[in-house]
Amino acid sequence: MLVVHKYGGTSMGSVERIKSVAQRVAKWHRAGHRVVVVPSAMAGETNRLLGLAKEISAEADPRELDQIASTGEQVSVGLLAIALQALGVKAKSYTGWQAGIKTDSAFTKARITEIDGAKLLSDLDAGVIPIVTGFQGIDGAGNITTLGRGGSDTQAVAVAAAIKADECLIYTDVDAIYTTDPRVVEDARPLKVIAFEEMFELASLGSKVLQIRSVEFAGKYRVPTRVLSSFTDPLIPIEIEAKSGTLITFEEDEKMEQAVVSGIAFNRDEAKITLRGVPDMPGIAYKIVGPIGEANIDIDMIVQNIGESGHTDFSFTVHRNEFDRAMRVLNEQVKPALGAKEVVGDNRVCKVSIVGIGMRSHVGIAATMFKALADENINIQMITTSEIKTSVLVDDKYMELAVRALHRAFELDKEPAARAA
Ligand code: ASP
Ligand code: MG
Repeated sequence: MLVVHKYGGTSMGSVERIKSVAQRVAKWHRAGHRVVVVPSAMAGETNRLLGLAKEISAEADPRELDQIASTGEQVSVGLLAIALQALGVKAKSYTGWQAGIKTDSAFTKARITEIDGAKLLSDLDAGVIPIVTGFQGIDGAGNITTLGRGGSDTQAVAVAAAIKADECLIYTDVDAIYTTDPRVVEDARPLKVIAFEEMFELASLGSKVLQIRSVEFAGKYRVPTRVLSSFTDPLIPIEIEAKSGTLITFEEDEKMEQAVVSGIAFNRDEAKITLRGVPDMPGIAYKIVGPIGEANIDIDMIVQNIGESGHTDFSFTVHRNEFDRAMRVLNEQVKPALGAKEVVGDNRVCKVSIVGIGMRSHVGIAATMFKALADENINIQMITTSEIKTSVLVDDKYMELAVRALHRAFELDKEPAARAA
């Protein structure tokens, strides 16, 4: 097999951990597989580097931030190459620019535009393991860029796409993608497979296991991507390791488990704002949402009530970090402009979502969801739906209760085949 191995920061967290990674990679190499490795910086290193810059200036030049942050990965690849060489395996490290990874010039959040896989493939032909830095590339003008926090996942999937790897294995500190966070629901179950669209929803809903862009990339280039643990014995048989964790797959692949709901996501980053007593007439939504957009604040959920005697209420959510700013925009600009009655805000809310591609072909999923919440006396403040997701906004203090109730209602603790629905 031709594979890319990606190792996260905790997997590379110490010299001991790096030696363990080297043992694992050498095992694959010796078994005849062709492996390209993409490691992250050692745990905490990127934060430390960016912290140094922040100590000098809170508004540091993004170009320089990338110049600094990219060095964390440069150290990792060199150490890993030495560790592999110490095991008697040929290995060679490359930074993003040395490996031919081109990006746009959006410093601190650059997008990959092109990867030349030729060099990596010729190393592999020569029996050398290429090790490429995560999270970075070079722009058209020769500047070093980074792909944004967590961007090593994206780098790995992009490299896998460029060399047409059979699989991209993301080795991390969790052993799988779970039906929900096992810290909240004890009997959360690891998923053997998950559809890429479901993974995309989970990543956009705040699951931090994979950077969302890596999932986007996996979908666009159809790279089979697996999330698995780097904390198992590095010498376990490859047949077992290669089947462990969660494989992100494509809907039409036969392997899909037949689940209606695959997972439950939740996120405390929401804040709700309601504008009361706005005139019910054309153009109002635009006059509210427009200034928020101009202030560069993203809106997530939106609800507009049915009007009564010419007036209506308009509610939406923003990221909790943007709550104060959004309130200011509404109070200072929107409320006076529209002659609205009042602006009320609540930043003690959270969003709970059920995700599953099976929702497309099943009715009654929302009813099951709302009943489970009603049975627990949890009030739903807002609802949004898409083809494969239903989200509700509830009071923060009910979050864990809501997640547990939904996990039970959809029987996510059982194998899909054993569920009633
Ligand atoms: N080292 C970078 C970060 O901490 C990139 C990554 O690990 O994915 O965000
Ligand atoms: Mg990560």
